[in-house]
Amino acid sequence: MHDPAEFRSLHLDRFQAEPALFAAPGRVNLIGEHTDYAEGFVMPAAINFATLAGISPRSDGKIAIYSENYREERTFDTSALPQQGSRHWSDYPMGVVHILAGEGHAMPGFSLSLWGDVPLGSGLSSSASVEVATALAVESLLGVHYPGPGLARLCQKAENQFVGASSGIMDQFISVNGKENHALLLDCRDLSYKLAPIPDCVALVIANTMVKHSVAGGDYPTRRRESESACAVIARHRPEVKFLRDATLEDLERWGQEMQPKALMRARHIISENLRTVAAADALLRGDLKELGRLMAEAHWSYSRDFEASCAEADAMVELAQDLPGLIGARLTGGGFGGCTVNLVEQKDAEAFAATLGERYTERIGIVPQMYICHASGGAHRVA
Ligand code: ADP
Ligand code: MG
Repeated sequence: MHDPAEFRSLHLDRFQAEPALFAAPGRVNLIGEHTDYAEGFVMPAAINFATLAGISPRSDGKIAIYSENYREERTFDTSALPQQGSRHWSDYPMGVVHILAGEGHAMPGFSLSLWGDVPLGSGLSSSASVEVATALAVESLLGVHYPGPGLARLCQKAENQFVGASSGIMDQFISVNGKENHALLLDCRDLSYKLAPIPDCVALVIANTMVKHSVAGGDYPTRRRESESACAVIARHRPEVKFLRDATLEDLERWGQEMQPKALMRARHIISENLRTVAAADALLRGDLKELGRLMAEAHWSYSRDFEASCAEADAMVELAQDLPGLIGARLTGGGFGGCTVNLVEQKDAEAFAATLGERYTERIGIVPQMYICHASGGAHRVA
């Protein structure tokens, strides 16, 4: 996290007012990919990269938002708030303002500064960290308090309805509810969750492949449609199956031949991934890191072969990590087709692991990857 004292004077210099400060972290998903919209399980951890938000009231009916990352300021009138995004970074904080206003809160004028060290657009959810930090800041000004799940939902709505990005609840939920040295098993059906400890001696090494491929027809909607068509086949026989969360591998054995081959593969990934994600939380709770690593490897290859959401670069990043000292488990994390891999690594080996993996990847792929050595961190909070 950037230095809050430096951030405070930055806000003070720009707006001549003392800010209240808030921080919200980015995240990495340890296991549970494309299970959220099937009402299944995910297990992310908040990381020690965060967005800081500073807020102070103003009396001229204006909302001024400044991002130190972009070194740019935008001003809005509280009497004419925008009703939709404009494909600008300010959509993320203004989306939160829009949703809060829609909940019936009269929006006062304020100055808001943002400054984040979550890498932007790398799959570590800088967007959710901006939304959550903004929501805490504006909440404090309004004198209202949304409990954890409600705050996460509010920020998800900002991203879905105002920014126009179709994302699940995971990013915002973990940014709000993350806990130091813990992963969080989230049930996307009812938002109940369980914390599972990550031992001190384990680092999260995030390796950015620096590639992001796009798939004809759109990757996310295509995969989603395919898996939903598999679910519909099962539901013809077992009407109680509303989402793949409710289906079993036996269902696939019985009725898989009625599905399109691709749909069967997608469903096999999602159903097995739900089982693995719950098992991974159990393994962490038992302190069985070896089993956790095995589940992560299985998850990667299921994501790559059955869900076909990996790519040569991400597969290489996972393969090249396998024999490095200290590795517990490695897999592609996030929406797929590139982005980052997450590696659980013994803390004492983390630096050497990151350096060697980076060199190997550059040698094989010809791209210099970015490496982030992180640990599981606490959720969003007010900064003293
Ligand atoms: P990710 O969430 O994986 O980082 P997204 O594309 O979802 O990627 O979100 C990135 C966008 O969030 C940026 O392009 C920018 O518009 C906005 N954003 C993130 N951090 C900041 C920041 N500190 N200041 C302003 N906008 C930010
Ligand atoms: Mg995002």
